[in-house]
Amino acid sequence: MSTRYEYGIVITLGEKNQVLWDATVVVEGDQIAAVGDAAEMKQRYPEAEAVDCSGKVILPGFICTHHHFYSSMARGMSIPGEPAANFVEILERLWWKVDRALEDEDITLSAQLPLIDCMRNGTTTVIDHHASPGARDGSLDLIESAVREAGLRASLCYEVSDRNVAGGGVAENKRFIKKVGQGDGQIAAMMGMHASFTLSDATIEECVGVAREAGVGCHIHVAEDAADREDALARYGLPTVIRLHKLGVSGEKSVFVHCVHVDEAEMDLLAETRTSVVHNPESNMNNAVGVTPLLQLLKKGVLVGLGTDGMGSDMLAQMRCAYLLHRLANHDPRVAFTEAPQLLLQNNAEIARRQFGLRLGEIAVGHPADLAIIDYQPPTPLSEANFLGHLIFGLVDATVDTTVCKGVILMKGKRILNLDEERIAARSRELAPKMWRRLQGL
Ligand SMILES: [Zn+2]
Repeated sequence: MSTRYEYGIVITLGEKNQVLWDATVVVEGDQIAAVGDAAEMKQRYPEAEAVDCSGKVILPGFICTHHHFYSSMARGMSIPGEPAANFVEILERLWWKVDRALEDEDITLSAQLPLIDCMRNGTTTVIDHHASPGARDGSLDLIESAVREAGLRASLCYEVSDRNVAGGGVAENKRFIKKVGQGDGQIAAMMGMHASFTLSDATIEECVGVAREAGVGCHIHVAEDAADREDALARYGLPTVIRLHKLGVSGEKSVFVHCVHVDEAEMDLLAETRTSVVHNPESNMNNAVGVTPLLQLLKKGVLVGLGTDGMGSDMLAQMRCAYLLHRLANHDPRVAFTEAPQLLLQNNAEIARRQFGLRLGEIAVGHPADLAIIDYQPPTPLSEANFLGHLIFGLVDATVDTTVCKGVILMKGKRILNLDEERIAARSRELAPKMWRRLQGL
């Protein structure tokens, strides 16, 4: 079974990005079989089913390297009392109640909702970080089922924290990591941990032991707020990254999310240990925690990717937010034009390669067939030389028409094909108020 996505503008990305007008991507099974001139591809693959992509740009599917599916059903919820005044209050009064109030069906729905959003935004691969202390055991299986049913790719983990019970969640990660093994290219597993300030040395050592034995990385929030750094300094006499490194958390497969409050020595250590960092600009702005020293991290050679931290699933919007934020924060209109797209297009692909063992993020023969096909009539010439200008100022606001993952069309003509979007949203509207009520008693 093969398909020709034809007569579009193909933007291959990869090391030698090519912008091909009137081009076709031929997909066979879950891989890309050919890329090239549309007329030629029609001759070479006459039997393939044709999908007309004229008036559209064909890009590799986007990757989100830090998400929280479980936050979905908090949308529109109000918290009684004074507004949370700082990051720790936001956690205590909002997120640490939401996660405790989740029940099994909420977990499934709160995964399906953002998975649909992912399809709508051309996001085909997600690294998720899950928490549901009230319905913990088996929760990763529920999310796995939702991801498989949706047809996207996800790396899953459970957020271990000592805040409810010491070492809570280690067993759920261990069980799931063992079940997933090295992964099948669609589902992968990591060791999930909340953050240094909610984890004792003993719990971290236990997590690292599980991760090392299975050969997986750790996925943890690091120095998101100054409070995490201050806690590590006060209790252990070490800044956060150094503390976590001494306990064995850093490494090539590990993902340190945020790294807003890190010093030079910590940045050097992240580079030396090849630990990935994931930047979430919208979330950092929303929680008013500060600005990640993105340009310094990149200069030191740290692999920095881009996530949404549960804010949404639109990676182009997140990329543009990073672009704007770092121009403003640095008071310099010369920066972030190449760096913000680099996080999304190159670095996220490398972080995903370390998790899934796949060469995502490039349209090339033999690569996985994950595509985002976007309505876009370039109003000015579009080529390799000026692609970033179109990405930041044009494609960011264009609508995704068709999303393909593993060679399967998940959304076509803006219609979600394999999930009942209306039913899922209606059921979520029914269950969300119940979850909100349960949460008031926590
Ligand atoms: Zn997060």
